[in-house]
Amino acid sequence: MSNNYLQFKSALEKFGCDVKADEPMKNHTSFKIGGSADLFVTVSDLNQLTDVISFCLEKNIPLFVLGNGSNLLVSDKGIRGLVLRLGGGFCDIGFNDDGTLHCGAGAQLSKLCAFALEHSLTGLEFAWGIPGSCGGAAFMDAGAYGGEMRNVVLSCEHVNLRTGERGVFAGEELDFDYRHSVYSGGGYVITALNLQLEKGDKEEIKAKMDDLMGRRKDKQPLEYPSAGSIFKRPVGYFAGGLIEQCGLKGAQVGGAQVSPKHAGFIVNVGGATCEDVLGLIEKIQKTVREETGVELECEVRKTGE
Ligand SMILES: Cc1cc2nc3c(=O)[nH]c(=O)nc-3n(C[C@H](O)[C@H](O)[C@H](O)COP(=O)(O)OP(=O)(O)OC[C@H]3O[C@@H](n4cnc5c(N)ncnc54)[C@H](O)[C@@H]3O)c2cc1C
Repeated sequence: MSNNYLQFKSALEKFGCDVKADEPMKNHTSFKIGGSADLFVTVSDLNQLTDVISFCLEKNIPLFVLGNGSNLLVSDKGIRGLVLRLGGGFCDIGFNDDGTLHCGAGAQLSKLCAFALEHSLTGLEFAWGIPGSCGGAAFMDAGAYGGEMRNVVLSCEHVNLRTGERGVFAGEELDFDYRHSVYSGGGYVITALNLQLEKGDKEEIKAKMDDLMGRRKDKQPLEYPSAGSIFKRPVGYFAGGLIEQCGLKGAQVGGAQVSPKHAGFIVNVGGATCEDVLGLIEKIQKTVREETGVELECEVRKTGE
């Protein structure tokens, strides 16, 4: 890390945000993989956020928005520039005047699900067990067991990272598709979500959440660090099924292994590097292509130097 970054640290601290220099990203990813970020900044309100964005634009510092790090593969060399995380008021959950839900993009999706249950609101049960932030879930159009974020998100509030301007995308503008949204190309930090849920029966909502969590625990290797499904679902197939069919269950490169429990997951069985995971991804893609003709596309997002 250059001396410049140490100077930037003290300048950024003056905005009131929490700033760490040379922060290991493996401490902030569910894979437990990733070298250090030059600067790791947690902002707690819109003023701090816009100050940090203006500073990065002025000093030409690359900025990466981190959610909960549960769909990320960060390079072993780490991330040059600044990693931005939403904390403080960006984690608040509550109601708008019209009864719709408002939640900060930094809030854990599990907290939002628990809030919905507490208020007997149905529609988010599918998301119970997805270990992301609400911003990351909107960015990815996260989904499971037949439900997807697009079914409940009315609008997302954001700040444009190129201009520092605040804005909102609603309805069609969100351009939701399978693991895709208008935000997928980057350029924005999602700051809040507005959601529409329906009144439901608390016991039924809880039963559904318990059932889906039980299914996750049965099928997924939750005892190891991972980033969930490593590949998108190819049309007409299941990635895990294809990988298993090619005899790759348990295949290993360094500390990265195709989970013997669920072939759609790559798990870190101890000390895996980003290179290990990339090597295993390549091996899987090549084998599956050659043996079945299907091209597997990564769902996990790669970032860093
Ligand atoms: C055990 C396990 C199970 C999983 N199960 C599922 C599942 O059932 N369904 C599913 O869809 N996913 C699943 N995932 C993957 C992951 O949890 C989701 O993709 C989740 O939505 C990612 O959210 P995150 O906050 O962790 O985002 P991150 O991993 O931090 O980031 C993902 C992308 O979103 C961007 N991003 C994050 N927050 C913001 C923001 N506020 N503004 C702008 N960009 C942002 C990042 O820049 C990055 O490009 C699973 C992961 C694990 C580890």
